[in-house]
Amino acid sequence: MGKTYHRGEIVDDADAHLSIRSKAVNYGLGCFGGIRAYWNESKEELFVFRLADHIERLYESALILGLEPPVPEKDAATTVLELLRQNDARADYYVRPLLYVDSDELSPTLTDVPVALSIYCLPLGKYFSAQSLHACVSSWRRVSDNAIPARAKPTAAYLNSALARAEARRNGFDEAIFLTDEGSVSEGSAAHLFIVRRGELISPPSTEDNLDGITRRSLIELARSEPLSWKVTERTISRTELYTADEVFLCGTAAELTPVTRIDHRVIGDGRIGEQTSVLGARFREVAGGRADGPSSWLTPVWG
Ligand code: PMP
Repeated sequence: MGKTYHRGEIVDDADAHLSIRSKAVNYGLGCFGGIRAYWNESKEELFVFRLADHIERLYESALILGLEPPVPEKDAATTVLELLRQNDARADYYVRPLLYVDSDELSPTLTDVPVALSIYCLPLGKYFSAQSLHACVSSWRRVSDNAIPARAKPTAAYLNSALARAEARRNGFDEAIFLTDEGSVSEGSAAHLFIVRRGELISPPSTEDNLDGITRRSLIELARSEPLSWKVTERTISRTELYTADEVFLCGTAAELTPVTRIDHRVIGDGRIGEQTSVLGARFREVAGGRADGPSSWLTPVWG
């Protein structure tokens, strides 16, 4: 039986309950994070990837929603580490912290309400089973930042992701790509998007109604720095650029770096996983797994 942090204590998974009346259940009033930790066999260590940045984004999400977290940011980070230890985590793990309105009263309110923090974790290998994806442009538009804050991770916004993903799956695709209300490329259902064109990496910025992404930021930093030193541009991407790109990939904490080799039945590049996608993916895995040097603040050891 695993352990979960719930309302101030670490309990058995089965004892972490919410009422069916909870505002978090009825209205999705809350926000969450998704963090990966990578097991390094030769060092016998579990490294949490960009823990401080994930907790910072969680607290920024709460700020955007106007929720007051029950504990300071640094305590949330410490609790993530303690929870992994109590779960005896010695494999690749995923950690899911949630800040939510912990009230069973009827109306959807974000003011004068108790806020709780819960954190659960689970072993997690690859998120997509396929080596490369066939994606579609969704008929659902990405929720606009002025409707439900897309820069943050509000629970309620994931209906948007789920609708797009369901449509994609029902139509035989692996994943959906969202356009913004204005019609430019936003992101995947729960991952960011890059295209590669004549050697240059291009990705839409967060102002295109996508999450302020940590994997995206990490990949931009790795691509621009030694030994790769590639050109990376953040700019608006139009739908048709997807079809003519040399390479396309999605990235995210769960998705890691996942190649897309077909979009809307069109073959991307030569239809194989692209060279730059492979090189950047390998570099990311090495750094995140603690097998190559990256920025020192990126990895937090759980056991050491
Ligand atoms: N977009 C959305 C909507 C997501 O839910 C996620 C997963 N957190 C991402 C992008 C990828 O962001 P990150 O790299 O910070 O996990």
